[in-house]
Amino acid sequence: MKTRTRFAPSPTGQLHIGGVRTALFAYLIAKRNKGDFLLRIEDTDKKREVKGADQVIFDTLSWLDLQWDNQEVVYQSARIDRYNAWAKKLVTAGLAYADPYTAEEITAMRAESEAAGKPFLYREHRPEKLEKWQPGEGKSLRFKQTNLHRVHWHDDVRGDLSAGPENLDDFVLIKADGLPTYNFAHIVDDYEMKISHIVRGQEFISSTPNFIRLYEALKITPPRFVTVPSILGLTGGKKLSKRDGAKSVEDYRNDGYLKEAILNFLVLLGWNDNSTDEIFSLAELTDIFDITRIQKASARFDEKRLLWINGQWIRKLPLDELYKRTEGFWPTEAQDEITKKRVLEIMRERLKTLADLRETTYFFKDPTPDLSMITSNKFLKDLGPARIRELLQTTHTTLAEITDWNADNLRTTLNLLLETTGEKPATLFSLIRLSVSFAPFSPELPFTLDVLGRDTTLRRLQSVINMVK
Ligand code: GLU
Repeated sequence: MKTRTRFAPSPTGQLHIGGVRTALFAYLIAKRNKGDFLLRIEDTDKKREVKGADQVIFDTLSWLDLQWDNQEVVYQSARIDRYNAWAKKLVTAGLAYADPYTAEEITAMRAESEAAGKPFLYREHRPEKLEKWQPGEGKSLRFKQTNLHRVHWHDDVRGDLSAGPENLDDFVLIKADGLPTYNFAHIVDDYEMKISHIVRGQEFISSTPNFIRLYEALKITPPRFVTVPSILGLTGGKKLSKRDGAKSVEDYRNDGYLKEAILNFLVLLGWNDNSTDEIFSLAELTDIFDITRIQKASARFDEKRLLWINGQWIRKLPLDELYKRTEGFWPTEAQDEITKKRVLEIMRERLKTLADLRETTYFFKDPTPDLSMITSNKFLKDLGPARIRELLQTTHTTLAEITDWNADNLRTTLNLLLETTGEKPATLFSLIRLSVSFAPFSPELPFTLDVLGRDTTLRRLQSVINMVK
């Protein structure tokens, strides 16, 4: 059987980064086995649906290069006829029936069980005489459990699992509004889409016994179950939430994270290749990703690690490719392509995210001098104005003598200046750095001065000399 996996998000808003981890695992399982990765939009919960959320899903997966193979994305809402057809089989076989109770009656029965300290099982209230169900009559359709024995199944990650009959109940297949539940629709869809592996989170394990009985009733062989581990926030044992910094993929993209880094980070949430390697491209993963190395234990979402991986990828991509990704991250003053490329080249060693490029205005426009940045700097605050002027004047005179302005010559000259002035690098170089940039951070000084160029460097030094009184 061909390997076919699917990503089946509900269109309820942004694509949360944890959801993309599921998509990535499903994608990799398919691609590793030369199979297909399909996309299905589970849009049968109209209350939770957000307009345009499907487009966000397409854009996010496309941006990450998680290309799905079905040209026509499957929407569950377009498949009501299929669910009704399968429902009819169950009704005919006496394995599903119209729920006669109102929502209030069910709530009351549930409350009664709870008061008696018993878990609520709908099937214990199943009416003697079952009502026939017809689509469109406004009644929900329930599955009739008939085989109340222990259920056994296999999960490719969790191993052999089983659950007692107390977990089996007459669950809803089609709601009163005529739309199917997830519990029913996904089983029909996975079968008709020829899905070989269901890749999903562990929140579905508790319902799986019920699913197994439904597969049996429908005479469908279930796909393989691949349960991916939960993602926990770094602090506390709770499931990842927005508060842990878990944002949508779009947020991370806007914050200057590379898609390579996001995928690389996500794949390590519950998988490793049995080595200490940490940096993987999507192409490499497609060759090596292995279900047997998906772990059972929950993974920890550590944003610092994401940041580190992002830095690794910023340095790993070819410069021209990286440059293409920087669009939208430059300050408005940055217009000149050649300067931008040179700035990127000297900055990339220290870049954590592309958004750090927003702080490079001083390469493109003279900064507004803020002398307090010099006078309050921890290495400079004790120098006093006369000494500051003197150091800057010496620097100006010495740099002005450089005939061939390049990073190597600048480095040599700056080191000579340390000797002639007798200052420590932290002092002299902080002073020069601040005088030409008035920015809290900048690349290594010889590179910075090289890209600024001779005229700009000398002009800025002079203007600070004139200002310090
Ligand atoms: N729509 C379900 C969800 O978003 C899909 C679960 C599944 O993959 O079967 O959680």
